[in-house]
Amino acid sequence: MSRVGATQTVALGAILAGWFVAAGQHSSSDVWPWLALCLAGLGLSLMTNAMALFTLRRRIIRRFPALTLTSAAAPDRAGGEPVSGDGMTLFHRPDCILVTGKNVEAHRGDGRQPCGMCRP
Ligand SMILES: [Zn+2]
Repeated sequence: MSRVGATQTVALGAILAGWFVAAGQHSSSDVWPWLALCLAGLGLSLMTNAMALFTLRRRIIRRFPALTLTSAAAPDRAGGEPVSGDGMTLFHRPDCILVTGKNVEAHRGDGRQPCGMCRP
């Protein structure tokens, strides 16, 4: 994360330097290179933020898989036959969070629709 801070500092420096130098120019044609520097700093800042967010998201998913829906939707994590229970209109994977703690049994194929969340 210190690299993110350093990169953001460089990006902010480019934006501010370009802005203040461009503000002191007398000719409009002299403004464009400094405006380009501002835009380059802005682009660098956006890319750094995007990469930091994706990295953090990946770390959160890796560390806390139970908190994300990806664990419920991953086909390789589900085991066993689909389940359903009395009064349910859908059938689910046994590890679907919608049936956690509910009284369910093996699905018998009695006209219920597959769950859109766990996709059995
Ligand atoms: Zn389900």
